[in-house]
Amino acid sequence: MTEGDYRHVYVVIEVQDGKLVPVSFEMLGEARRLFDKFNKQNDSSEKVVAVLLGQNVKEISESLIKAGADAVIIADNPDLKEIRNTTYTKIISQIAKDKEIARRIEPKYADQFKRPRYMFFAADSIGRHLSSTVLAELEAGLASDINKLEISDLEINHQQKTNGMPVIYKKTLEMYRPDFSGFLWTTILCLDNTNPAIERDYHPQSCSIIPGVFEPIDPDQKRNGVIIEYVPKIDQNDLRVKVLSRKIIKSQIDFDSHKAVVSFGRGIKESPEQNIKLIERLAKDLGAQIGVSLPISKKPFSVSQSVASTYMIPDRVIGTSGRKISPLVYIAAGISGAMQHIAGMKESAFVVAINPDDAAPIKDESDIFIKGRMEDVIPLLIEEFKVQSQTATA
Ligand SMILES: Cc1cc2nc3c(=O)[nH]c(=O)nc-3n(C[C@H](O)[C@H](O)[C@H](O)COP(=O)(O)OP(=O)(O)OC[C@H]3O[C@@H](n4cnc5c(N)ncnc54)[C@H](O)[C@@H]3O)c2cc1C
Repeated sequence: MTEGDYRHVYVVIEVQDGKLVPVSFEMLGEARRLFDKFNKQNDSSEKVVAVLLGQNVKEISESLIKAGADAVIIADNPDLKEIRNTTYTKIISQIAKDKEIARRIEPKYADQFKRPRYMFFAADSIGRHLSSTVLAELEAGLASDINKLEISDLEINHQQKTNGMPVIYKKTLEMYRPDFSGFLWTTILCLDNTNPAIERDYHPQSCSIIPGVFEPIDPDQKRNGVIIEYVPKIDQNDLRVKVLSRKIIKSQIDFDSHKAVVSFGRGIKESPEQNIKLIERLAKDLGAQIGVSLPISKKPFSVSQSVASTYMIPDRVIGTSGRKISPLVYIAAGISGAMQHIAGMKESAFVVAINPDDAAPIKDESDIFIKGRMEDVIPLLIEEFKVQSQTATA
């Protein structure tokens, strides 16, 4: 591998109804932070490159520069108005391999350029699908649902990868994801095979990034960058899938007009039906909406049909797979606080958690952590609210 083979980080931007989706700015912010450090440490000048597909997207490309990109590659075409996986996969893969684009970004290494060093996608329904098909097309590695990234030199000694020899993998993207409800971090590496029997490269090292995890940078109006217009090669075959109409279905569950949300998770397990009734009662007294953790929407416990169909539903899920909310008060009962859940409620102004396990990650997100079982704690809260409201009305 030469210095010029793999360069830069390409960040695949998402647009919805002509507007940039917030996770796009979050990915750019993290790419900027990583690359400022990376370039300083390696005395290099690799770039943060935004890849933007759609129709009439030119005017929003400048904001990507202000948000941290050194370059924006635009594919602006009426056929890209709606996201179609096959067409988007083809064009993003073309862009990732294009030496002429690489020349506009950094002429010095353009002749050697093979692929980006790293690629970021959003871990939402569009980005998860797209990242898998693009990386299959590029025959490289992908880690999904990442919430921490580092770049380091690692010494690896692996029977298959390195033929049992110690090898220093320079500039390796360490991609962290929370597993087992956030109790275990898994680090995923996409490493080239240096073993002569199966030698091959796996670049770009790529991941999808959980929305809401990274902070965007403050827009810098003075930042300059290159805008590169790419004319995509689309043929009729790519357009076989037609989008005839598109409708965003509004959720039946209204979180926005409630000042408080009470959510419950698998901690209801000892007596699911009775615990849900308790939560229902608490929520009613507070005028709160009810949310759930993702596993609850899969109906893991047997409860009456009416309770299951009212509460154990995807529409109530808080987190990356569901809703992102910001109530004044968020009460998490029997929820461990996995990263994917936290991403949906961390904007809440005041958080109360009820959990017997004070090692649960939700504790770190809480303003008040009540160590205890919900069966014991919620009746006390209901009683106390009753007393307080009687005092207030007296
Ligand atoms: C791609 C992907 C996307 C995901 N998206 C989401 C998402 O959007 N939202 C989401 O919530 N999860 C999501 N998850 C799942 C997430 O990783 C966790 O598995 C999940 O949030 C855990 O749910 P939980 O807190 O209800 O259950 P658990 O992790 O099992 O936690 C239950 C908690 O209840 C406590 N408890 C036990 N008994 C009691 C009691 N009597 N009273 C009170 N507390 C008690 C326990 O101490 C424990 O902390 C996603 C996972 C993946 C892989």
